[in-house]
Amino acid sequence: MYEQFGISKKVEQLIKNSEQELQEEFKKVDEICECNSLKVLNAFIKYNISDMHFGGTSGYGYGDVGRDTIEKVFAEVLGAEDSLVRTQFISGTHALTVALFAFLRPGDTMLSINGKPYDTLDEVIGITENKSSLKSYGVKYEQIELKENDFDIPKIQERLKKGNVKLIEIQRSRGYALRKSLSITKVKNVIDKIREIDQDVIIMIDNCYCEFVGTIEPLQIGADVIVGSLIKNLGGGLAPNGGYIAGKKELVELAAERLTAPGLGKEVGSTLGINKNILQGLFMAPSVVASSLKTAILTSHILEKLGYKLEPKSNEERADIVQTIEFGNQEDLIRYCQGIQMGSPIDASSVPEPWDMPGYQDKVIMAAGSFTQGSSIELSCDAPIRPPYVAFQQGGLTYEYGKLGVARAIENILGKKE
Ligand SMILES: *Cc1c(COP(=O)(O)O)cnc(C)c1O
Repeated sequence: MYEQFGISKKVEQLIKNSEQELQEEFKKVDEICECNSLKVLNAFIKYNISDMHFGGTSGYGYGDVGRDTIEKVFAEVLGAEDSLVRTQFISGTHALTVALFAFLRPGDTMLSINGKPYDTLDEVIGITENKSSLKSYGVKYEQIELKENDFDIPKIQERLKKGNVKLIEIQRSRGYALRKSLSITKVKNVIDKIREIDQDVIIMIDNCYCEFVGTIEPLQIGADVIVGSLIKNLGGGLAPNGGYIAGKKELVELAAERLTAPGLGKEVGSTLGINKNILQGLFMAPSVVASSLKTAILTSHILEKLGYKLEPKSNEERADIVQTIEFGNQEDLIRYCQGIQMGSPIDASSVPEPWDMPGYQDKVIMAAGSFTQGSSIELSCDAPIRPPYVAFQQGGLTYEYGKLGVARAIENILGKKE
């Protein structure tokens, strides 16, 4: 059967051997999955989710009991006072943008403490000129680089002592940077150190790709607000779009007034029939994230054997679902991404090519044969075309589909060399 799918005996054997060697790692993932499933199930039971919550509203969306209850369930699962979970968020970038514009005022300073944030925020912040950026409204921006893959605590404390920092952004996942993702232990440590100096600064976490990877979420260790996308982890592959902001009640309220309008806030926003997908997506999310993690661990193990540089290693603790593969040359990178596309359920016959994408500075190749456009909780692989030619792979709705996609991609590199 593997051969029919275009997978050689050699690659099949590589996978079988790796799976044997990875049993311990997979078991750890299963344990995390069980813990997060427990959290989700508890929240569903606590809020007595029933058929009534699946109904949708149209127009203004007043009195949408499904939407309001979804926001309670998300808050419960994430350890938040309140949450805003909305289909009106276009993407993770939009949710982050709404949060930043909601919390920051002219003259305020935003401080990023893990170097430059995710590429699509460049124009939002004004790192790249844009007439609608935070900078154009007089919001200042500063950043402090990481030091040896951890926060530079002395520098951060020194800066906070000078005052006038309104908001600190922490991005846990690596984005398109070549650094490690930031573990919950490191984040807790830096939050404690921030609070020694400043009790008021808003600590906001870009939590994209990190939800349910471990058993502790950032709000439980002192962050004020977290932001993420529903076409990543928490959507479980079933939410058709959307994003969330969760945390302190007053911050969620500010975000709601920015997303809708001052005076309207959380009270409006019709759901047009997607409540069930969001609830079912959250229900599936622990298991889907676990599948993504196993796919990533397998990828790391096999491709390292084949001589590429992988981060994280297969036995390393993970903070997000992203697996980076350093190919060192453009051809292998492109062939691998094209192979992921060939092994995808949707648009398998499309051939992705490097392209200029809005919000990104380099050409980007994106392999995504997903049910939901751009969904990266589904197996996907993308890469900015710049040395050292690193691909960022994530997702896998089930481990089996993830594995098959990766097998196809490996074959697409090895096949050409023989
Ligand atoms: C995906 C992602 C975002 C937001 O991206 P969208 O594609 O707009 O949803 C922001 N930060 C990080 C770290 C991400 O992974």
